[in-house]
Amino acid sequence: MRWIVYENNELVAGTSLRDEGFSTDAFACGNVAAYVGDDEASVIRNRKDLAEAVGIPLDHWVYPQITHSDILVEVKRQDQGEGTLSASLKFQGVDALYTKERDLVLSVFHADCTPILIHCPKTKIVAAIHAGWPGTIKEIVSKCMDTLIEKEKVEVSTLRVYIGPCLCQEHLEIDRPVLDKMKTMTFDVSPFLRYRDLDHAYFDMVGCNVHQLVSRGVPMENIEIHPECTYEDPLRFYSYRKEKVTGRHVSFIAMKK
Ligand SMILES: [Zn+2]
Repeated sequence: MRWIVYENNELVAGTSLRDEGFSTDAFACGNVAAYVGDDEASVIRNRKDLAEAVGIPLDHWVYPQITHSDILVEVKRQDQGEGTLSASLKFQGVDALYTKERDLVLSVFHADCTPILIHCPKTKIVAAIHAGWPGTIKEIVSKCMDTLIEKEKVEVSTLRVYIGPCLCQEHLEIDRPVLDKMKTMTFDVSPFLRYRDLDHAYFDMVGCNVHQLVSRGVPMENIEIHPECTYEDPLRFYSYRKEKVTGRHVSFIAMKK
């Protein structure tokens, strides 16, 4: 299986691609999510294939059941393998993970949503966050940053952040109910909206998540943003918005042994 590599000598991190793998039809080829209706055996083969390509066996990975929540959970050594061969019961409704363990791969599924991978070289912590528009509105990134800063004492100025492929602003149109949900946000979201008419706007989801990182002190130059949009290349990317029935990518991060 092929994957986008985020380079760092202390890390293994990346985003899986769809162009190679064992899934067929709407899920072709490299789908790694079982809950979308794909054949489970193909999904497991893809996960094993990816684990082999990455160089860390599948029983050292953790696949949570994401639900557009704003929940962050710490992953310990005894959790490794959770959710890899069957849906995780322990990490249900968990959209963000962090760990202090090496050689333990944190992962989040996505197809259009924003995957955000964080490394603190100072405290030796990695985190993986799934932020679709619901999570972005719930400010999951701000909340994760607050926990990492207050509880885990990460040094924000040293953080490295990788943002994987997701929807660009042009391909993320939102309507009045979503715009109304944004009224609960703790900061002014208007710089990230371009109105088409009174009740429809294009949402800069990446920009809004970057704002949540920068507002907590992450230097802009430490944030690497993958330039591709998942809507625009159906050979390499799944797009839920475009295809409805489709596979999922996984974005993942681990500290090397
Ligand atoms: Zn786009």
